[in-house]
Amino acid sequence: LFGFQADARLAADMPVIKARLFANENPFGPSEKAKKAITEAINDSYMYPFMDLQKFIAIIAKEEGVTADHILLGAGSSEILMASAYLYGMHGGSVLSADPSYSYLMETAGTYGATWEKVALTKDYAHDLEAMEKKVNEKTSLVYICNPNNPTGTIVPAAKLASFCEVVSKKKPVFVDEAYIDYVDNPKKQSMMEAVRKGQNVIVARTFSKVHGFAGLRIGYVVALPETIKQIKKYGGGGMNICATSIKAALASYTDTEYVNYAIKKNAESKEFLYKVLKEEGYEYIPSYANFVMFPLKMDGKKFREEMMKRGVGIRNWEFSNQQWCRVSIGTMEQMQLFAEAFKQLS
Ligand code: PLP
Repeated sequence: LFGFQADARLAADMPVIKARLFANENPFGPSEKAKKAITEAINDSYMYPFMDLQKFIAIIAKEEGVTADHILLGAGSSEILMASAYLYGMHGGSVLSADPSYSYLMETAGTYGATWEKVALTKDYAHDLEAMEKKVNEKTSLVYICNPNNPTGTIVPAAKLASFCEVVSKKKPVFVDEAYIDYVDNPKKQSMMEAVRKGQNVIVARTFSKVHGFAGLRIGYVVALPETIKQIKKYGGGGMNICATSIKAALASYTDTEYVNYAIKKNAESKEFLYKVLKEEGYEYIPSYANFVMFPLKMDGKKFREEMMKRGVGIRNWEFSNQQWCRVSIGTMEQMQLFAEAFKQLS
């Protein structure tokens, strides 16, 4: 089981979930404006939402400074990650990524015949771009970078990643998954959209599932060179899988900066609380730029997850760098208090 499949399994295993902190969702979303748009869209939902899809593409294009043919919509970014996995995995070859990272694209490409070339993180648990660059070879079909990285929450500095993209994209396409970019300071500066604008073969993925709180509404997109978009689109994406209600909600939420800022502020408050709890209990953690935090455990990860689950708190466990880890998503303050209560019983 990988990616959201593992999250789904956790949900199924939990009869009573008091604090759902295993899937990096935004517990406050969707916004009031998005909910209003959904309600209003219901009556019109006998119609295919062609016009709204076009409208949404035009708005993103304007915001990102590209033309509409640089954009591919999906029912969640997963639809496009999957199409990309097929495009870049079906002829064998390898997909290169950090390890651990968000495994969905690489695992899916594996089912189509590609191998997964893993590069260990640095000692600070961030992408090791130098090591990754050295690993690019004729077998590589795609390079995947998750920034901020899931599950570690680390980022690579924009300038460093920009020069990596510039050099590597001349040899192989670089897929930059920016699912959590809204949580970093100055996302525009941190984003690799500029590489696409410069004509580099870089694919930037975004999702509404995180800061916009749309995980159940399923909206995402990629921005890439028109020729790359054409290739990916053969295997998925394009908007026909997006509901009229969801696209209307996305149109309402895209410009709702007040709500986005609120969600970011709430996330920061809960994260500070979590850091404090971890410190008080004598635990270290990886400083996170996203809506989840990874910290090393002092007990078996699976046992920890099961014990937390018994207490109604869902988290994910990992094992890497010879260490057991917990990844806890940032929830509401009440949910974080439930996490803290359960955690203190086990720490
Ligand atoms: N990319 C990253 C890094 C993720 O963590 C996730 C989900 O957690 C996704 C993509 C998939 O998101 P969605 O299909 O909801 O857009």
